[in-house]
Amino acid sequence: MPEQAHKVCVKEIKRLKKMPQSMPEYALTRNYLELMVELPWNKSTTDRLDIRAARILLDNDHYAMEKLKKRVLEYLAVRQLKNNLKGPILCFVGPPGVGKTSVGRSVAKTLGREFHRIALGGVCDQSDIRGHRRTYVGSMPGRIINGLKTVGVNNPVFLLDEVDKLGKSLQGDPAAALLEVLDPEQNHNFTDHYLNVAFDLSQVLFIATANTTATIPAALLDRMEIIQVPGYTQEEKIEIAHRHLIPKQLEQHGLTPQQIQIPQVTTLDIITRYTREAGVRSLDRKLGAICRAVAVKVAEGQHKEAKLDRSDVTEREGCREHILEDEKPESISDTTDLALPPEMPILIDFHALKDILGPPMYEMEVSQRLSQPGVAIGLAWTPLGGEIMFVEASRMDGEGQLTLAGQLGDVMKESAHLAISWLRSNAKKYQLTNAFGSFDLLDNTDIHLHFPAGAVTKDGPSAGVTIVTCLASLFSGRLVRSDVAMTGEITLRGLVLPVGGIKDKVLAAHRAGLKQVIIPRRNEKDLEGIPGNVRQDLSFVTASCLDEVLNAAFDGGFTVKTRPGLLNSKL
Ligand code: ADP
Repeated sequence: MPEQAHKVCVKEIKRLKKMPQSMPEYALTRNYLELMVELPWNKSTTDRLDIRAARILLDNDHYAMEKLKKRVLEYLAVRQLKNNLKGPILCFVGPPGVGKTSVGRSVAKTLGREFHRIALGGVCDQSDIRGHRRTYVGSMPGRIINGLKTVGVNNPVFLLDEVDKLGKSLQGDPAAALLEVLDPEQNHNFTDHYLNVAFDLSQVLFIATANTTATIPAALLDRMEIIQVPGYTQEEKIEIAHRHLIPKQLEQHGLTPQQIQIPQVTTLDIITRYTREAGVRSLDRKLGAICRAVAVKVAEGQHKEAKLDRSDVTEREGCREHILEDEKPESISDTTDLALPPEMPILIDFHALKDILGPPMYEMEVSQRLSQPGVAIGLAWTPLGGEIMFVEASRMDGEGQLTLAGQLGDVMKESAHLAISWLRSNAKKYQLTNAFGSFDLLDNTDIHLHFPAGAVTKDGPSAGVTIVTCLASLFSGRLVRSDVAMTGEITLRGLVLPVGGIKDKVLAAHRAGLKQVIIPRRNEKDLEGIPGNVRQDLSFVTASCLDEVLNAAFDGGFTVKTRPGLLNSKL
């Protein structure tokens, strides 16, 4: 125990001696002293720093996620070269179920350190991090000190899970309390309110995880190094399922590969028809459901088998002596193998899948949705990964009003107004007319724009190009190509500006079976991070202005075509 803490303890002991046991403070002081003694002031584990072993372990535990693994290895390598690294705090940011927590656990395993997870979701009181002062009734230390007490060493790996979901309340801002914890310059004398003496946190390795950086307070974000963990492609998910998830589920359910067989096509079916996610958590659950169903079959089979065996014995009772002579202990396993019901291994095909998981939950609805003008597919980024998003528009007689539906944020509403303005100013150029043949698109016309999945709040500028395309389709009466998705911010003058989350968006388009993706030209560099097989399946159009977007979105382009009928009617 450092000198300062020791002094405080001695003082408290002296006080304790003078106190009658019946005094309530007696118990409090006693608890305090017990905690002080229990804390790992100078107890630590020795690091096992072997980069080659670390690489093998990370590769064995996790498929894909190359960027993340590379950065983690760099971090470990620097630690190997320089022991007391005051390095940055790593923060893994990505959709749920992509293995952020699990990589954190692997880091602890490779280093041979203790692992402790601190869930920060919903924490809205700063004393949760820093503890309560001892003057309060029921005061206790914060989660950091409590975690140290639990692991019993002063250099564990602390995983601060879900830092983006910290709350704020009247009891103070927990994010502000975390600042001190995470700052390598300050945390060597972190003071918990309960302890009231400094504890050195500099040996603790902090790793944070979050779904999005948008809600992490800027000051906290500044202290962390963000590593983006994007969602997986279908192929990666299949590999992850067969290398990691299925063996794990089999083991958890007491099954062996001889009893159940899940071919890759089935896994693909589960991924495309029963799950829609960026990570693999729901896939893991579905596999668990299959294993449970098979476990029932296997257990029933074994029951029958056991009965069969018994009747066999009674039948063969007469010649028992011979059998006993022939039977040898090692042949027992052979007989059980032979006695397995004939349908082993149970093959999980699409019919079995339907029996177990019910009818498919997701169907490819893309083509039927785009069978009328006024519908276009956009790409959205959400903390849960990329998603495709339909934009629908319709027009009706009215007074030139624009109605927006689907819980849109302010930025998205502005995009819709921008889109209308741009189309109105270019109506002549593209021969866009309202229902009465007028180039003034809002003349006696109301427009209603809808972004389905109405319960989900949507915001951001990246739907701009989709709204323009959708409205262009509505006013021209032409269909948008059903295999095209797009993303990009627009300006009033018709330029297309770059947007974020390209990789997740492209993966979503690929998942949905689309063929072409229109992205802003300045986002071209983001395509490098996209896996080769996805890039092969999709064709990319980069656009710097709305003309290019429209030309790519409509079959045969969207260039001006003179439509004599309309012109005449106008004249
Ligand atoms: P997150 O923290 O990102 O929400 P988890 O780390 O809890 O997700 O991961 C969920 C599950 O998915 C874990 O069981 C993990 O083992 C598995 N998993 C995710 N990604 C991979 C991967 N690349 N390889 C192997 N298993 C993975």
